[in-house]
Amino acid sequence: MRDSLFARQLLEDVRVLASEAMGGRATGTVGAERAREYLIGRLEAVGVKPWAGRFRHPFAGDPGGVNLIGWLPGEDEGASWLLVLAHHDHLGRLDGELHPGADDNASGLATLLGAAAALAERPRRRGVLLVSPDGEEEGQAGSTALAADPPFPLERVGLVVNLDMLSRSERGELWVAGISHHAALAPALLAAAARSPVTVRLGHDQPDPDDERFDWSSESDHAAFHELGVPWLYFGVEDHPDYHTPNDTFERIDAEFFVGAAVTAVDFLTGYADDEDD
Ligand SMILES: [Zn+2]
Repeated sequence: MRDSLFARQLLEDVRVLASEAMGGRATGTVGAERAREYLIGRLEAVGVKPWAGRFRHPFAGDPGGVNLIGWLPGEDEGASWLLVLAHHDHLGRLDGELHPGADDNASGLATLLGAAAALAERPRRRGVLLVSPDGEEEGQAGSTALAADPPFPLERVGLVVNLDMLSRSERGELWVAGISHHAALAPALLAAAARSPVTVRLGHDQPDPDDERFDWSSESDHAAFHELGVPWLYFGVEDHPDYHTPNDTFERIDAEFFVGAAVTAVDFLTGYADDEDD
C-alpha cells in the first residue's frame, strides 16, 4: 500500500511537471515559476522547511534565475549534511515546439520529492538540504552560482547527490557516477544496488580515451561541487533518442523502471541520512 502510494505520487509529479501548463520550464519563463510554485507546495506538504526563511534564492548572471532550497534539520549537531540536487529548468519551447522534459528532469524532481517525504517521516541524524537549481540547461548556471556563493555553510555538506534523468533506459540500467572519486561511499551504495529492482551500474566518472562523453563528472549540477572537492554521486541514465527533443514526454517514460530507480535512490539517501559515519 505504502509502496503503491509512493509510485502513484512519483508518476503524478512527473505528469504535472511535464505538462503543457509548465511550458517546458525554461529559465526565466512563467513555466519555470509555475514549476517552482508546485515544488514548494509539495515540499511544504511533506514538512520541508525553507532555508533561511525562504525557498527561492535568486541568482544574478546571464541568465540569472532562481534556485530553490529546502531544509530538514538533523538530530546530531556534529554530523555532516546531505545535499540532494535536482534541476527544475528545461528547454521550454524551441521553434514553437514544447519540450516537456519528462525524463530531463521532471523525473529527478519527482525522485527528490519522494526522498523528501521519506526523509521527513521521522527525525534523521544528518541535516538534509533539498535543492532544485535553475539554469542547468544554461551551462549549469544555478548550481555554479550556488557553489560560488552558497547561502548555507558549504563546509557542513559531506555529500552531494544529484538526481538528473531516472525514468527510462532501454537496457534497464540506472547509473551511479562519482564512486571512483569517493570510494568510502561504495559499501552503502553497493548494498542499495543489491536491493534494487533495477540494474545499478557504477561508473561514468573517469575519462575513456575512446569516448569523450563517457566521463560525466562535469555533465550536470554536481560539477561545480566536484570542482570544489565536495564528495558527490550522480544518479541518472544514459542519453536516449528522445533526449532534448519534444518526445521527452510523460507517456514515454518507463513507469516500472522509473519507480525502481527512484526507490533505489531513496533507499540510499535515507540510509546515508542516518548512518553513523562523520
Ligand atoms: Zn538534466
